[in-house]
Amino acid sequence: MTPPGESMISVEEARERILSFFERLDAVPTPLLDALGQVVAEDVVAPFDIPPLDNTAMDGYAVRSADTAGASENAPRELRVIADLAAGYLLDTPVGPGEAVRIMTGAAMPPGADAIVPFEETDEPLRDVGQAPTRGDTVRVFKAADPQANIRFRGEDVRAGQAVIPAGRVIRASEVGVLSSIGLTEVSAYRRPVVAILSTGDEITAPGEPLRPGAIYDANAHGVAALVKKYGGTPKLLGIARDTVEDLTAHIREGLSADMIVTSAGVSRGDFDVVKDVLAREGAIDFWTVRMKPGKPLAFGAFRSPDGRSVPHLGLPGNPVSSVVSFELFGRPAIFRMLGRSDWERPTLRAITRDRVVNSDGRRFYARCIVTKGEDGRYYADLTGPQGSGILTSMSAANALTVIPEDLPAAEPGDEIEVMMLDWDHAP
Ligand code: AMP
Ligand code: MG
Repeated sequence: MTPPGESMISVEEARERILSFFERLDAVPTPLLDALGQVVAEDVVAPFDIPPLDNTAMDGYAVRSADTAGASENAPRELRVIADLAAGYLLDTPVGPGEAVRIMTGAAMPPGADAIVPFEETDEPLRDVGQAPTRGDTVRVFKAADPQANIRFRGEDVRAGQAVIPAGRVIRASEVGVLSSIGLTEVSAYRRPVVAILSTGDEITAPGEPLRPGAIYDANAHGVAALVKKYGGTPKLLGIARDTVEDLTAHIREGLSADMIVTSAGVSRGDFDVVKDVLAREGAIDFWTVRMKPGKPLAFGAFRSPDGRSVPHLGLPGNPVSSVVSFELFGRPAIFRMLGRSDWERPTLRAITRDRVVNSDGRRFYARCIVTKGEDGRYYADLTGPQGSGILTSMSAANALTVIPEDLPAAEPGDEIEVMMLDWDHAP
């Protein structure tokens, strides 16, 4: 273990070390709507063809195409309507020569018919409302139908035995739809990690409680819990621990059933907090200085749970912006890894900064900014204001972070810089 403050590492190195502690969790049957953002654990195979039967793609008339050959507005073909067929019903009677079935989108093709003539190509729209042809009437067809016109064929979407969703696919709304279309109500997916979240500090007060002089409300726990939820984990709030060995130890123990414990504050060098001591005693812990701004101090280690599991621990800095940015860079990939996802990298863009961004101390600067698309089609970045790591409203105003390299002392207005988009899940 490295003594406090000894190592200075890059964001990538910190992330790599952290990720080496995590693996994909077990797969469990998951109701479809709960599985959004989770990963399918096994190929899902269609038990039948979709669509299960040839059916009509339009409202119209099922006909024998040969009967409509040469039809035009001046020379319509008259067909006798033998039935009216709604979606969900089957017709056993074959369509004979000179006959037609009035049919609604999705209804199975009646035997004998090989094409659908849409209403628009018949005299049906010319009739008064409520006077549509019914059984025994005749309908006039104004246009020749090609064989197979307007038919959706059995199995054209999915063939029985085909993997409709391969293992490893992230479940989005479309996957929920596809899985539903083969009659499933749940899917085997890697389970969501439970992330226990603990704030520490004598001054920290739970929202909803009265605030005594000198105290501040806990911004971190719920902010981080919201990120955990957004990124696919299940937050478990452990409350606030006082800066005493007893209280901190008691709170940490509450969290040992989780897949990961996230604490905030008490990880910086030379402060009054007891966090470090307790962490070191209850498990193994490393204190790192990460070459980034905000969020230089970071702790990472593992506790041992009563049932013998190793529970990784991410110790975020106390300053609210540092805590959010650090969780974004280190907590999100950990959650994704446990979910079986590898797409944790945030999309980045090249944008033109309209502000001067000073980066004097050799760290990578993740400044809060607003990225907009200009009328010229290029992206522009504006800082959200003061960048102090306690100023959380400037995080709230931002939709992106700048990625100013460690060795760049300043970006000047007009320079192209890299920005990391916070509200985009994937590269556009
Ligand atoms: P520390 O890491 O304990 O030195 O905390 C750094 C700064 O972050 C201090 O100003 C703390 O008051 C503040 N801080 C720590 N935890 C929280 C929290 N949960 N919510 C808001 N501010 C916090
Ligand atoms: Mg503190």
